[in-house]
Amino acid sequence: MADLKRLLDTVRNELQSVDHPGKVADYIPELAKIDPKKFAISITNLKGETVSTGDDVKPFSIQSISKVFGLALALGKVGDALWKRVGREPSGSAFNSIVQLEHEQGIPRNPFINSGAIVVADVLLAGHRPREAIAEILRFVRIAANDDTIMIDPAVARSEQATGFRNFALANYMRAFGNLNHPSELTLGVYFHQCAIEMTARQLSEAGVFLANGGRDPRSGLTIVSRERARRINALMLTCGHYDGSGDFAYRVGLPGKSGVGGGILAIVPGEASIAVWSPALNAQGNSLLGTRALELIVRETGWSAF
Ligand code: GLN
Repeated sequence: MADLKRLLDTVRNELQSVDHPGKVADYIPELAKIDPKKFAISITNLKGETVSTGDDVKPFSIQSISKVFGLALALGKVGDALWKRVGREPSGSAFNSIVQLEHEQGIPRNPFINSGAIVVADVLLAGHRPREAIAEILRFVRIAANDDTIMIDPAVARSEQATGFRNFALANYMRAFGNLNHPSELTLGVYFHQCAIEMTARQLSEAGVFLANGGRDPRSGLTIVSRERARRINALMLTCGHYDGSGDFAYRVGLPGKSGVGGGILAIVPGEASIAVWSPALNAQGNSLLGTRALELIVRETGWSAF
């Protein structure tokens, strides 16, 4: 772990010393306030040990990374029936795109684009009030991370509720096709709050390590998902986790990964470790620019690869 710590410090120094393009997400007003210079990397291995560098104890908005936890929870509830309502193919379109929905009769391409994650939130809402569904997602994340201090930032959730017109459009459109069982504002209430979960890089790598460990949390020994389900979630992260940048991410990094517009990425090295990176400035596809570069440097040095 000492070698890894040295590597993380080197990667951080290298990346932070150069100017990079990239822009903080400003379509969610609350996220526009974030300092683009923040930077953290954290790695948790299969013994449950964590090393990190940078702003590793500063919480950030995990945004779409939450879609991984939402998916794991929804599969636990309805199993393969989920795939009647959501596809499993990369979209090749932006995360908030609406175009494919018309051609494909309101069935989103995959659970990691916004439309797909909104359907997943709708599944989690079944039989519950929004508050209960939100609490269930938060509880799942806390169990995975072994950390009860993880919270939702209500200001971020409100900010999205007030400005998330595209997400309302997606939800209403899917409702028109009969692929949303609850009023859009209720399902989106769940979705916006799950996206507004805040975590530090350390908490995020700790929360994700079960996916590197065949579904089991190495610290608590708890089975979070079955081995087969972990494999499938990783496969979806590899093919769909970075939207229309998924191919490029696979080419550069070669690991299952899920990004969020808060600038975080969770990457999984099956059988080795989980990696969380945070750098808020994004590339054109809405994925963390330096976060991706950091992962490229880490896999080059460690030889970690899914292949
Ligand atoms: N909450 C964000 C949205 O719905 C999530 C997008 C993302 O992180 N890519 O627009």
